[in-house]
Parts: sequence; structure tokens; C-alpha cells
Amino acid sequence: MIHSLRFRLLVAFTIAILLAIGSTFFFLSTAIRGEIRQFGERADQLRVARMETELARFYLRFRSWQGIQPAVEQWGNLYGQRIVLTDSRGVVVADSKGESVGEQSSPDPSGRPLSIPGLRGDIGTLYVTPRPSAELGIQSLGVLFGAIGRFFFWGALVAGAIALLITLLLSQRILSPVRALTSAARRLGQGDFSQRAIIKDKGELGELGHAFDVMAENLQRNEQLRKNMVADIAHELRTPLSNIKGYLEAVSDGVIQPDADTVRKLNEEAALLARLVEDLQELSLAEAGTLKLVRRVENIAGVINQTVAMMQPKAAVKALSLVTELPDKLPSVNIDAQRISQVLRNLLENAIAYTPAEGKITVAVSLPDERAIEVTVADTGQGIPAGELPLIFERFYRVDKSRTRATGGSGLGLTIARRLVEAHGGQIKAESELGKGSRFSITLPVLA
Ligand code: ADP
Repeated sequence: MIHSLRFRLLVAFTIAILLAIGSTFFFLSTAIRGEIRQFGERADQLRVARMETELARFYLRFRSWQGIQPAVEQWGNLYGQRIVLTDSRGVVVADSKGESVGEQSSPDPSGRPLSIPGLRGDIGTLYVTPRPSAELGIQSLGVLFGAIGRFFFWGALVAGAIALLITLLLSQRILSPVRALTSAARRLGQGDFSQRAIIKDKGELGELGHAFDVMAENLQRNEQLRKNMVADIAHELRTPLSNIKGYLEAVSDGVIQPDADTVRKLNEEAALLARLVEDLQELSLAEAGTLKLVRRVENIAGVINQTVAMMQPKAAVKALSLVTELPDKLPSVNIDAQRISQVLRNLLENAIAYTPAEGKITVAVSLPDERAIEVTVADTGQGIPAGELPLIFERFYRVDKSRTRATGGSGLGLTIARRLVEAHGGQIKAESELGKGSRFSITLPVLA
């Protein structure tokens, strides 16, 4: 409950609203207090000024303070303040409370001296207490703030209710995709890879849903690939195994003799199995990205010459001419020489296997631009049908499915070659013309 999104949203909204209301109340009350105080002071000053004018007018008329007491009393009652008037000698001549008339007042700096233009000296002093409506102001301010406070209290209650409502609505909007995602993730975790979140939200949640869907799709594809791979492997292993089993059964039934020829055939099938398993291991390493390249700055011409020399005997058996066309100066490349040699060997093995006697195989190097080096292996062999060209890099793909296994490889050669070249940051591609020959090219980045 405490950790639920809904609760957190509610707390966040409530805190935000209370803060907003509290700060508004604080600033408003500070501003109002200042305004009211100023207003009170101005009214006070105005009142005292009016009294002063009235008193001056009275004195001018009667030249004495005789008879002023009723007016002072009236003002005192009217304004709720104590008003005391003394004459020029400091004797109280009027008091709104009527208490100290006739007494000598002690000098007090808060008194306002009264004078009339044209008359020398003061005609008296006016005392108004309390001074600027301090107590009165605070009292009425208290009442005012009480009213404002009540207003804000109800406002806070209404805002709280609104916060609750917004939380419910908003959390519903946020939670429904989150719930959809959670249940999809849960089912995906249980192995149902067809799960998709499908969130229509355009914001971050939509992005999250999209990322989830992409992940689910990848997982599903990988799962499918894994299943296909297992089926492919089983299929590929079955043929040599059943061949071996067939030979052995035939030998034990006495149908064929366990002579040197049979042993050679058994050996060939076993060799094929061994190669298949080896290639599979290589491929799984390359596909898992755990294949370690031991890269060094190399001269590609050296790698090519060595590999070609290694393959010459095989080419010679089929009376094929295997030649290289290398420019004099080549930029260095940062490669794992053994792996690149393995790729070349594979291409050369294919070229030798699919080129009839008297054919020609050429290994050439060109520089398509200053950042890449291109190694091509071209043959004058049977070629590959255009429709199958994009498929030959797929694992176990063979153009001639019925080809005898003794001559052929595992069908993994080009797949491994592509993985190895890609691990170097390069590319491998094939061009071919049926009946004329094929051309495989590897592009590798040049050392910057
Ligand atoms: P394999 O072990 O069967 O050679 P690869 O992955 O090396 O497997 O090659 C896949 C298929 O591509 C081959 O079975 C063959 O049909 C075709 N292929 C590869 N290289 C050539 C080539 N130089 N000429 C004709 N076909 C080729």
C-alpha cells in the first residue's frame, strides 16, 4: 500500500497542494498585514490632522479653550481613543475621559504641539492614545486572518478532494499500461514469447512498452532460431550417423566385407561428423560473441600468400591454377591473421570444390577507398543461381542438397566466415554468374 504508485501520487499531490496553499496564505497575510497597518496609520494621521484643524479653528474663534471639553469627549467616544488637550502651559484643558482636567501634564514627546499661523508660540498640545491604532489593528487583523484562514481551510479540503480525484484518474491512466506490461513480462518470463505489451501511450510509458515489445520479439526470434538450429543440427548429424550405422549393420550381416574400402568410407563419415561438431562449436562461439580475436597489425599480403601456398596442393590435384594478384604496396590491417586465413581457406576450399578441372582461381586485393581493403576470391566454376546467392551464408545451406558428403563441408563454412569477418568490423559478399564463376569479396577496415 505504502509503496503503491497510487499512494505515492496522492502523497505528492497533497504535499504540493498544502505547500501551495500554505505559501499563498503566508504571503497573502504578510501583504495584508502591511497594507492594513499602513491604511490604519494613514487614517490615524488624517484623523489627528482633522482634530488639529478643528482645535485651531476653535481657538481662533474664542481665543481660549473654554468649552472645548464636549468636542474632545465626543471625538474620544467616536474614535475609541483617549484624547487629551493641554494649553500652552501644559495644564489639561480637555480630556475625553474627563479625568485629568485642570492637572499639570508631564511633558511627553508623543504630544502634538498646536499652533496658529500669525500667533506666536504654541496654543496647546494634543495627546492621542493609543498611538497609531496598534492594538485595535491587531485585533481586527486577528478577525480578518481568522476569516481568511477559514476560507483557506475549506479551500484546502476542496483541493484535497480534487487531489484525491486527480490521483485516482491519473493513477488509473498510468497504472493500466504498467499493469499490462507487468502481466506481459510475467507471462514472457514463464516462456510465452508471443506476449506483447501494446501500449498506446505516446510518452515514456509508450516508449517502455515499445522497448518491451522489441525485446519480446527478439526473444521470440532467438527462441525460434534456437529451435531451428537444434532441428538443423539433429538433421545434419543424422545422415552421417545413419550411414555409419548402415555400414556397420551391413558388415555384421555379412552383406559387405570389412575391407579397406569400407573402413575408408566409415572414416570419411566419422571425419564429416567430427568436422560438423568442430564447425558447430566454432559457430556457437562466433554467434555468442565470445570468440576472441588475437588482433595484430598485419601485412595482408603475407597472410594471403601463406594461405594460398597452403592450398596449392589441393588445387593442383584438380589441375586448377591458383594465382594471386597483389598490388606492391598495401596498407596494414589490424586483424587476427589466423582467423582471416581460416576465412580465406574456406573460400578457397569452396572455389576448388565447385570449379571443374582446368579452371582458374584468383585471389586479388584492391583498395575501394582509403578506409578499406578488399580481398576477392574469384573462380571460373559452376556459379551459384541468383536466387540462392543471398542464402549461402545461412547455416547448413547448400545449393546442391544431394551432393555427396565426402566431398563437401558441413554447410557452415560461409556462415562461420561471415561471423569472423564481421567480428573484424568487415563485410563479406558474394557475386556469381551461373556457369561462369563466383566471386567472394571480404572488406576489412584499414588501420587509421
Ligand atoms: P559447404 O561446407 O557446403 O561448402 P559453405 O557454407 O562453405 O558450405 O557454402 C555454402 C554453399 O554455397 C555451398 O554448399 C555451395 O552450394 C555454395 N558455394 C559456396 N562457394 C561456392 C563457389 N565458389 N562456387 C559455387 N558455389 C559455392
